[in-house]
Amino acid sequence: MTTNLKTTYLTDKKFPFCPGCGHGISINALNKALQELSYDPKDIIVVSDIGCSGLIDPLFATHTIHGLHGRSPALGLGVAMGVAQKQNKKVIAFIGDGGATIGLQHILEAARRNIDMTLIVLNNLLYGMTGGQISGLSTQKYKEIIDFEKDVPPFDLIQLTHASGARFAVRVNAPNKIKDTLKKAIETEGFSIVEAASLCPSYGMKRMNELMEVVENENILEHKRPATKIVDQETPSLIEQSQVIETKFDAGLKKRKGIIIAGSAGGGAQSVARFLAIAGMYAGLNTTMKGEYPITVGTGFSVAEVIFDHKPINYTGLDKPDYFIIVTEDGLNKVKPKLHRDAKIYIDEKLVTDDLRYAFPELIVVPFSKMANRKSTALAAATYVLNKEQILPIEALKEAVGTHRLKDVFVDVIDKVTV
Ligand code: SF4
Repeated sequence: MTTNLKTTYLTDKKFPFCPGCGHGISINALNKALQELSYDPKDIIVVSDIGCSGLIDPLFATHTIHGLHGRSPALGLGVAMGVAQKQNKKVIAFIGDGGATIGLQHILEAARRNIDMTLIVLNNLLYGMTGGQISGLSTQKYKEIIDFEKDVPPFDLIQLTHASGARFAVRVNAPNKIKDTLKKAIETEGFSIVEAASLCPSYGMKRMNELMEVVENENILEHKRPATKIVDQETPSLIEQSQVIETKFDAGLKKRKGIIIAGSAGGGAQSVARFLAIAGMYAGLNTTMKGEYPITVGTGFSVAEVIFDHKPINYTGLDKPDYFIIVTEDGLNKVKPKLHRDAKIYIDEKLVTDDLRYAFPELIVVPFSKMANRKSTALAAATYVLNKEQILPIEALKEAVGTHRLKDVFVDVIDKVTV
């Protein structure tokens, strides 16, 4: 495509800002900068997020992406890394000073990575969309007026991003300088940030003097550091990496069944659920598995659910499990509220109490803890139940453990339970 000064990067939509809003100046300046740089609009990716600055995406006749508040630098960085191998693509992200406060870490991460992109910060010293609250970039003078946190200095984004490694970091204020500054930023290979003072007439008019303080504080900081190059590594997609499981066995079960394995951390309940799910696939079934455990490591319950069905499993919840395999007290305490009389409840002999027997007379009591050591009790118990209930062939389970580094130990446990 041939571009010239008539090419516009803007749609014909009316700017949605309040009358006199400074954001329009930066948007028009960017349009002019792109015209002078002769970019193809299809090569420009404009990223925005929440806030008044986030209203811009319908205004641009380029690619546009809209993200969460404070996340346009992170979103832009991801896109920039994705298009780094493509010639002439340019990512330009917008953010307000409120978003920049919320997403400061993302800005610094983008700066230190120094990937080729430009971030435009529209700084009006306040959160405009929510009614003029102060941001992390509000100056102390500004805060004197409202007598709030007036001793707390604002973040200096230009100093911070420069210190983090941004190739080109500029605070610019005079409207007639914004276009040329943006041109330089866009032409800079690496991370560039342009903080532009942007008047908010609706909430910031009375703070003109304080905005002027920012205006007077123009700053240009540059590094010679070259942009980080992205090396295209032909990484296979997750789908390509996934293991193909071919049907090798016939499943015993006739209709959808759900199993809960209830144990303790470190007892292998999650691994066993995974083995069962894979075994189900070897038997030609659709399967799902889910795990639940506390955030702590090595302590507390570990409960896993597995569903088998010949039909596609659209609902993966297990409201009324068909089988419970309970091997430890932690597991029992966790699943107790889900126990019901229609289920087959297989439970280790040490866990049975009179109350439990009274509530569930059909309990199936098995000495699971005597069948294997603590780490393999869940596998021994699952093997026992699979064998008894003829849900899946044991050979499918053996096949499923076959890729694990401890497969010999596991196969030994399975064999001992099934003799
Ligand atoms: S509230 Fe302020 S920043 Fe938001 S559109 Fe209106 S003038 Fe612009």
